[in-house]
Amino acid sequence: MQHEMVPGVARLRRIVWPILLLLSVPVVLQGCVNRTPMLEQVREEGKLTIVTRNSSTTYYLDPEGQPDGLEYELAEMFADHLGVELEVVVANNLKDIFTMVTRREVDLAAAGLTITNHRKNWVRFSEPIKWVSQQVIYRAGNDKPDSVEDLYDKHIEVVALSSHSEHLRKLHKQHPKLRWVENEQLESEELLDLVKNQLVDYVVVDSTELNINQHLYPELSVGFDLTKPEPIAWAFPHTHDTSLYDEANRFIKMIDDNGVLAQVLERHYSHVEQFDHVGTFTFLEHVAARLPEYEEAFQEAAAQNGLDWLLLAAMGYQESHWRADAVSPTGVRGLMMLTNRTARMLGVSNRRDPLESIDGGARYLRDLYERVPESVKEPDRMWMALASYNIGLGHLRDARKITKRRKGNPDKWVDVKDNLPLLRKRKWYRTTQYGYARGNEAVRYVENIRSYYEILHKHYSEQESPIRIEPLPTIEASAL
Ligand code: GLU
Repeated sequence: MQHEMVPGVARLRRIVWPILLLLSVPVVLQGCVNRTPMLEQVREEGKLTIVTRNSSTTYYLDPEGQPDGLEYELAEMFADHLGVELEVVVANNLKDIFTMVTRREVDLAAAGLTITNHRKNWVRFSEPIKWVSQQVIYRAGNDKPDSVEDLYDKHIEVVALSSHSEHLRKLHKQHPKLRWVENEQLESEELLDLVKNQLVDYVVVDSTELNINQHLYPELSVGFDLTKPEPIAWAFPHTHDTSLYDEANRFIKMIDDNGVLAQVLERHYSHVEQFDHVGTFTFLEHVAARLPEYEEAFQEAAAQNGLDWLLLAAMGYQESHWRADAVSPTGVRGLMMLTNRTARMLGVSNRRDPLESIDGGARYLRDLYERVPESVKEPDRMWMALASYNIGLGHLRDARKITKRRKGNPDKWVDVKDNLPLLRKRKWYRTTQYGYARGNEAVRYVENIRSYYEILHKHYSEQESPIRIEPLPTIEASAL
């Protein structure tokens, strides 16, 4: 048999080599025609083009409509380092990302991609940017999975073509009872919803995914780590010329050595201090212990901006639990949690100064209120202004458009509230102008403020406070 095969193999070689040589002609020719190294080309064009995914771990527009996300920030730094502009292309799924890189439609992919053996055939990975493990996520109250055996006969979903599906395929060889669905429609963050809503038993996602979204999913937990930490890196095309690739590696090494990378990771992934809903009892304790110090400031800022001071106070509580030194790793700080940019725009010089913060927050809310269309009546207009404070006016506009498309009333908070969470779903956000946003967070934000407001209102009426209490609306034309 063996003897018979050798001539066959030799024949095959004779056929294959000329084909391979022929295939390599375009590459060689390309090398002859265009000798400018890729790094030089990028510099000459003045533009670095990346492809990414629109998600909370990679790239999204923040409440002020500014691009943000770990991959975006790093790519922006790299573009700066090269002295060029950054152009961002958003792909709909992993397949499109790899296609764009291999076809050289972009310079690189910065999309939270895990380095895997299989993928190395298609692309060339940079030095690692961060390390994540694959985690099995389950809903508390259901069986906690501890091992691969616990996954047998369960309904498991993963993102199609992800590193997770690649790993499950590997595991399948030793664990033939393992079954899973490769979801082509949803992204990791949306898969978490499936577990939350008990539509599936488990999903596998990157460890950063639940970490960054844990506050939205208090009912979800990590069963176990399916892999050891794996490297996430940028993906480049397999080209002969590695000048841009080499420069990217030098850049990554530099920011790794000088601690900048660690700072950026910290900003994006360290646990976000969150001031979410507390019970009435705790809230009333804080009303007694913390609010008196700021009462006057809230009243004054509210009066100057034609707002209800109790509403402003309720908002301040949602933002910082009335702590002047509150700070989040994303750079938001102070009693009204202003970003650096908003503070500058409002002329707030010291965000930690509670008076400045309250005054700035009130002016900002008033401004947003004015920009919510007049067709939205009170109190809905105020709820939408509050939602914009949290998520940004652009994203609110998108949610109102979706509401209309779904035959809801874009002027009614009850309807917009139902549609805001769709901004996290690819099917919907890809049709919008401002893209991915944590719409569900904005809904919770507004609803929390409403309940704090109600408690405050009741509390102050019962005390027969000499302070003038007005129910919503308190926006008066004279105050404009
Ligand atoms: N790191 C994962 C991968 O490269 C991310 C997949 C995803 O969340 O879509 O496949």
